[in-house]
Amino acid sequence: MTNCPECDAQVDCGAMIAGEIFPCRDCGTELEVLATAPITVERAPKEAEDWGE
Ligand SMILES: [Zn+2]
Repeated sequence: MTNCPECDAQVDCGAMIAGEIFPCRDCGTELEVLATAPITVERAPKEAEDWGE
């Protein structure tokens, strides 16, 4: 169990694997599992956005 970096809601990552992307049940933000021991999640990059690079 960890917390959403966006809204701080509890996120159950018990069956998650590193690299998995899932939406927060509370705020809908796409989260990416960076690591599972300990569980670490971060907002997933929005690949659809063009940053003008
Ligand atoms: Zn959230």
